[in-house]
Amino acid sequence: MGLLFLGTPLSWDEAKHYADHVRTHGITQFLHIWDCLKDRCGDELLWGDEIEYMVVQFDDQEKNAKLSLRQTEILAKLQAIVSDIATDASKADSVPTFHPEYGRYMLESTPGAPYTGCLRDLLSVESNMRYRRHLARKYLKENEIPFTLTSYPRLGVPGVFTEPYFDPKNAVSSHSLFVPEEITNPHARFPTLTANIRRRRSSKVAINLPLFIDEHTPRPFVDPTIPWQRSIYSEDAEAKNGAALIDHIYMDAMAFGMGCSCLQITFQSCNIAEARRLYDALVPVAPLMLALTAASPLWRGYIADVDCRWDVVAGSVDDRTDEERGLKPLKHDRFRIPKSRYGSVSLYISESWLNRPEYNDIDAPHDEAIFQRLKKHGIDNLLARHIAHLFIRDPLVVFSETIVQDDTTSNDHFENIQSTNWQTIRFKPPPVNTSIGWRVEFRSMEVQMTDFENAAFAIFVVLLSRAILSHNLNLYIPISKVDENMARAQKRDAVGSQKFYFRKSMILPGDVSPSSSVCSSGATTPVDPHRTNGIPKKDRILRNCFPLVPKPEDGVLDGSIEDEYTEMTIQEIMNGKTDTFPGLIPLVYAYLETLDVSEEERHQFDQYLDLIRRRSDGSLKTGASWVRDFVRSHPAYKLDSVVNQEINYDLMVAADEIERGVRKAPGFLPTQD
Ligand code: ADP
Ligand code: MG
Ligand code: MG
Ligand code: MG
Ligand code: MG
Ligand code: MG
Repeated sequence: MGLLFLGTPLSWDEAKHYADHVRTHGITQFLHIWDCLKDRCGDELLWGDEIEYMVVQFDDQEKNAKLSLRQTEILAKLQAIVSDIATDASKADSVPTFHPEYGRYMLESTPGAPYTGCLRDLLSVESNMRYRRHLARKYLKENEIPFTLTSYPRLGVPGVFTEPYFDPKNAVSSHSLFVPEEITNPHARFPTLTANIRRRRSSKVAINLPLFIDEHTPRPFVDPTIPWQRSIYSEDAEAKNGAALIDHIYMDAMAFGMGCSCLQITFQSCNIAEARRLYDALVPVAPLMLALTAASPLWRGYIADVDCRWDVVAGSVDDRTDEERGLKPLKHDRFRIPKSRYGSVSLYISESWLNRPEYNDIDAPHDEAIFQRLKKHGIDNLLARHIAHLFIRDPLVVFSETIVQDDTTSNDHFENIQSTNWQTIRFKPPPVNTSIGWRVEFRSMEVQMTDFENAAFAIFVVLLSRAILSHNLNLYIPISKVDENMARAQKRDAVGSQKFYFRKSMILPGDVSPSSSVCSSGATTPVDPHRTNGIPKKDRILRNCFPLVPKPEDGVLDGSIEDEYTEMTIQEIMNGKTDTFPGLIPLVYAYLETLDVSEEERHQFDQYLDLIRRRSDGSLKTGASWVRDFVRSHPAYKLDSVVNQEINYDLMVAADEIERGVRKAPGFLPTQD
């Protein structure tokens, strides 16, 4: 979340008239970026993480743990502190940044400046994350704690779950039966997004998570906590008219999804071609990392039969009309749209020969006029389709003050559409007139309870990205199979119970020594020295600019794509299966071998990679499994799927103690069994 513009947001009835205006100028802005920066090359690896927190206030008398709605004050305080530290110039870069997020109980933090590819930076990630948490914690009230929980277990229960308390009947933006207006960041953008999604869709969002059915869960389960008969807003009747499903946890507001926390990683690539290649390579990795980081089994006071946030967030911002969702024949709308604007990637975009056209095998509607305009400007089919696909969406928040923009200096209209397409991977074009290059953001992971885990997953993804590029790994499978993997990744105990589609072989056959650089401007290209002259020279920098293997003469990719992939367990995909399938973790180790890593540093990497390895083989459980087990073994749990106030309170106490390292969690964290 970048800077938030203060202005006057238009209601949906007004905003919709500017949809074409925003799209047209958004594309003009993109074309300007393209013209200026398509040949930009030689950018070093820069990368950074984003961590989202939920601030919880403890009431030890009542034994209640409540979401603290003090975001505005907390951020003001943190920003003052942070700029205080930053006046010490030597520290300026190391001072973290705190950002607002959707929930009024949320904070986001990022490192003060992106990390470079230096090994030293990579090894400082955990301490950077801890420092950020320390700062956040230090300037909260004594009874407040910043948690890295993916979903808040009792968001939206009847009674008191926020501090201060607000009644949901005043939820003028969402019209929710469960969460008050004050759950949302008060900045105009957020209530407007909330209201305009509802208005565009012509109903409230409707999320139904399967309930985890326990021994004493009443069946059929008709949720007694839904105010079925409320009639304040016209949408109140939706619940009883079919929106709320039996045996499910029903949720009806953006806050249930966008009020979740996650862990994201952004990479800067050497150039646009490498960014597109990395984007594609990470698409099939996204569901695997979602399964491995699963951390959200509790929703609105109940245990769900799923472990992840993904589908909840997708449902929480699903602004598609009945026609677009295929419930009615198309009459007023332009497209049948298979997915919410928060969803998995629908199109691979790399021009690499590895990207066979057959992999883009799902329905991904695009705006034909925009597609033709991009093509006419000289943009290739794949990228034109990607952009024209994002641009089937309407802008949801339009500020009257910024309708007219200078398309050569602003990217605001472009970002309006781009940044409200929330996909597993995001391709981020550079803003003009900055030092920023073409970037790729990895967005599927759930945030972990401890910074040790967050660092481990961040570092793993960074190393994996280098392993992919330096070993020229081919991870392509049909996008339809990636989508199937996304569904499986969210299932209860997906790591232990599911198989995932994956390539039988990631390694390219034949000679993998590169012959040409991906950079057009050869001279300025910092090509990885241990790959060029054939002389292995160990390096202390993680680099960009890995050349792609040229297509072999014999056309090895002509076979049926169905023969290229199979179903494997996460254990097999991550830790390896046979001689011909080494597994992603061993490939990361092989990449580490190319670096000049000291014994001590190697030991630190081992700790992180061991966590990933043991999550994958099931010898350590996911956060979701740990939380589930905690609730089910709590003395106050009645085997009825309900997470009551007392259980939630004890869970928060435990999560905080685990994070601070004062409570052991055997079977969950490696150093503690
Ligand atoms: P958003 O919320 O739009 O995804 P943020 O501004 O919160 O983006 O930042 C995402 C991450 O990108 C941060 O960790 C930041 O340090 C990192 N970052 C900033 N500049 C670059 C860059 N040039 N290349 C790579 N990462 C960067
Ligand atoms: Mg965020
Ligand atoms: Mg951010
Ligand atoms: Mg953002
Ligand atoms: Mg964000
Ligand atoms: Mg982000």
